[in-house]
Amino acid sequence: DAVPISVPRWIDDKLLAGLLPAGFDETSCLSRYDSLINRKGLSAKPSSYLISRLRKYEALHRECGPYTESYNKTVKDLRSGVPSQSSSAACKYLVWISYSGLGNRILTIASAFLYALLTNRVLLLDPGLDMTDLFCEPFPHASWFLPPDFPLRAQFHHLNQKSAHCYGKMIKDKSVTASFVYLHLAHDYDDQDKLFFCDEDQRFLDQVPWLLVRTDNYFVPSLFLMPSFEQELNQLFPNRETVFHFLARYLFHPTNRVWGLVIRYYEAYLANVDERVGIQIRVFDTGTGPFQHVLDQILACVFKENLLPDVNRKQATISSSGKPKSKAVLMTSLSSGYSEKVRDMYWEFPTTTGEAVGVFQPSHEGYQQTENQMHNQKAWAEMYLLSLTDVLVTSSWSTFGYVAQGLGGLKPWILYKPENRTAPDPPCQRAMSMEPCFHAPPFYDCKAKKGIDTGKLVPHVRHCEDMSWGLKLV
Ligand code: GDP
Repeated sequence: DAVPISVPRWIDDKLLAGLLPAGFDETSCLSRYDSLINRKGLSAKPSSYLISRLRKYEALHRECGPYTESYNKTVKDLRSGVPSQSSSAACKYLVWISYSGLGNRILTIASAFLYALLTNRVLLLDPGLDMTDLFCEPFPHASWFLPPDFPLRAQFHHLNQKSAHCYGKMIKDKSVTASFVYLHLAHDYDDQDKLFFCDEDQRFLDQVPWLLVRTDNYFVPSLFLMPSFEQELNQLFPNRETVFHFLARYLFHPTNRVWGLVIRYYEAYLANVDERVGIQIRVFDTGTGPFQHVLDQILACVFKENLLPDVNRKQATISSSGKPKSKAVLMTSLSSGYSEKVRDMYWEFPTTTGEAVGVFQPSHEGYQQTENQMHNQKAWAEMYLLSLTDVLVTSSWSTFGYVAQGLGGLKPWILYKPENRTAPDPPCQRAMSMEPCFHAPPFYDCKAKKGIDTGKLVPHVRHCEDMSWGLKLV
């Protein structure tokens, strides 16, 4: 009944083998160097090239960050509408516009950061209404937030595919001069917007000091298909399956407020057991759950894959000698119904193995409340708690689950998406890799200028387990 622990751990010092920079004040962000997460280590060793590029990025961020001389100058050019091509800017920027649910945002910040790293840009985040008090600053001595007086800020929520500065629109209008470019990389983007993923278009974009991006997708897999980034990416990530794992562990450190939520819950319910099993339930069906078919599917998966013991409904007790092995199940869901049912089952009947199983669910928020601060803090804490489990079950299509698996370096069992309110058979499948899925990739051959199946070009970029048209790194 032993469950294979997914990946070997690679543990070094509290700087995670140099992935994290030294020199931060530890008390202002307790999660960064905390032994709870560092004890879990990394799932592999980061390349020395990645580490050196991160230090180089940090230096660039410090040089070009908010209100530095270079920043002020580049903003001045932007204010006076100097066209990109004639700008004398010393620094180039990528502004990430806050968009979509928290799981999506974490994936898109990581994608934007990698793109910035590859193109020597400085990443600045629009804090939106609710990006504060979730993440510690990841770069020493300079903020990653866009200053409040940034000139285009009021325009952010008007920017769309019809805007004159939108790259796809510029292509359609054949007008390619602008003081800044808006990249629309959201799920509804069109063929012209998708030219972002072509080397030729990158050569043009490279000259633009200000790029603004709105996306709800983990677009990293398609960067791996671009010849211009290929060599650099291979050096940065010789093991492609670790891209998000390393980026997430480098970038996303819960603030002390969120860390409190993580630590208190972990110590109270998860610390003192033999094994932790995470089950992330995300139901995209309309109507309010809990649904019987979802519960059936969860149980079918955990029993079939031996992740949790079955119960004996005929016997009152099962005697075992000695202290039983203990398991804690951490369930996350907007609804409390699933964990109540599983918890009751393990109380009402004995397990066939004699193991003691406790079932815990931190919150049941009912529905998504994207701009509610405490709601987002809880969602972030729960993704983090799931990442601290030993065995993880996730729901198809959910970026919430992708963040948990990536942070934790876990290859989850993915619950297939139910169709017509019936539990699929088989109920779940082991993921090929811990990488997130790119839900809306382009299917275009930039050289031949025709459609192509981008999931069949190279062995390390494949179609996802949970979404047949998606792409993921393996
Ligand atoms: P996705 O929609 O599953 O891809 O994940 P997102 O994180 O992008 O958006 C879903 C949002 O719904 C989350 O950010 C939370 O606000 C909320 N949510 C969904 N599932 C849960 C859950 O299990 N716990 C909590 N606390 N919030 C959840």
